[in-house]
Amino acid sequence: MTDKFWGPDFDELERTDPEIADVVLSELDRQRAGLQLIASENLTSPAVLAALGSTLSNKYAEGYPGHRYYGGCAEVDRAENLAVERGKALFGAEHVNVQSHSGASANLAVYAAFAQPGDPILAMSLPHGGHLTHGARVNFSGKWFSPIPYHVDKKTELIDYDEVRDLALTHRPRIIVAGATAYPRLIDFAAFRKIADEVDAILWVDAAHFIGLVAGKAIPSPVPYADVVSATTHKVLRGPRGGMIICRGEHAKAIDKAVFPFSQGGPLMHSVAGKAVAFKEASTPAFQAYASAVTANAAALSKALEAEGMRAVSGGTDTHLALIDLRGLDPAVSGADAERRCDLARITLNKNAIPYDPAPPMVASGIRVGSAALTTQGFDEADMGRVASLIARAVSADPSTATGERELAAVVDDVTQLVATKPAYPRMAGEGPQ
Ligand SMILES: *Cc1c(COP(=O)(O)O)cnc(C)c1O
Repeated sequence: MTDKFWGPDFDELERTDPEIADVVLSELDRQRAGLQLIASENLTSPAVLAALGSTLSNKYAEGYPGHRYYGGCAEVDRAENLAVERGKALFGAEHVNVQSHSGASANLAVYAAFAQPGDPILAMSLPHGGHLTHGARVNFSGKWFSPIPYHVDKKTELIDYDEVRDLALTHRPRIIVAGATAYPRLIDFAAFRKIADEVDAILWVDAAHFIGLVAGKAIPSPVPYADVVSATTHKVLRGPRGGMIICRGEHAKAIDKAVFPFSQGGPLMHSVAGKAVAFKEASTPAFQAYASAVTANAAALSKALEAEGMRAVSGGTDTHLALIDLRGLDPAVSGADAERRCDLARITLNKNAIPYDPAPPMVASGIRVGSAALTTQGFDEADMGRVASLIARAVSADPSTATGERELAAVVDDVTQLVATKPAYPRMAGEGPQ
């Protein structure tokens, strides 16, 4: 067996490039020193990081296992076959493509497989939680296709399935997209399937955010309902940064061709290997326990924030994320202010538009919080109550006043104490929080 010279080697990095070595260690410190609540982030495992830091990064492997455009692919073929087989087993899928470089690249391939430029695409409105790739004007999806947005109901803040059906009947979309980046509730895949059948559209579920909850059996799977499911592997699923596509057997060829050669060149084989590792980890009872803890923690956090005077959009969450409406706070705090204040207190989250938001997107009336990373660290529902109270204190501390500044410093101390009880990456090298 070859020795393990390739392993992630900080000493070598420090000798060659001390500046980047410092970035890597400082970022590890940052992740450990604060509360990571960005709903699309997680802390991937040391095993996945080892695959990512390997010489698989060197290998060109355009094509698919057994049919490559380059020699020397026997070893990387094994990695991709393992990723595909594990992915199929994990999701009960007929076909899986693991080559997409990212969620957005996976989505580009889905459009390429099923639509022509100019085709109408029915997808969730961006300000109501849809993703850039669901028809934003600044994105290829909005430039090359004709997006028709559907919305959430103003009262319930749940997807308005009647509107989805009405729009589908009127516009006859080629593709109907279910899935979002800031929607806290379960999506009724059966309802979407019925509408898609009525108008003979492709049903595409963009499960980028919640595929990890599906893998962990914490929420229902879209796979039996959808023609195609796209996803990322780095959000709740906790794998390497990357994308994947799951589809029915009848669409396998179209999807594979749309990924390569239509929209990508050589796959990132170190990332493909990392995906195989992540699928293996996600198929364990431990990951199922993790996924249900993620939803329990998000529910606890959402409830505790409500107790602090911040309203949860739609009244709560069924997933890993909650969307919080700050408009009830007095004095008023915008989403942008809340994000900045929390950042000063080492609480990392993002401002977010709420449905029918009166504020412009760069200001926003809400914040989005996710429980995936803290749950990886071992945080439980009682901890989420503490996290909510720290968020509430940070959000209402105005840093332009002396009292606000003192309060933010006090929150930093309390955050430091809390993360020390359940640190991120407890076994890795580094300085640790100051
Ligand atoms: C995150 C996300 C994507 C894009 O993933 P990237 O890896 O950032 O390109 C696509 N769709 C949805 C719904 C997402 O939440």
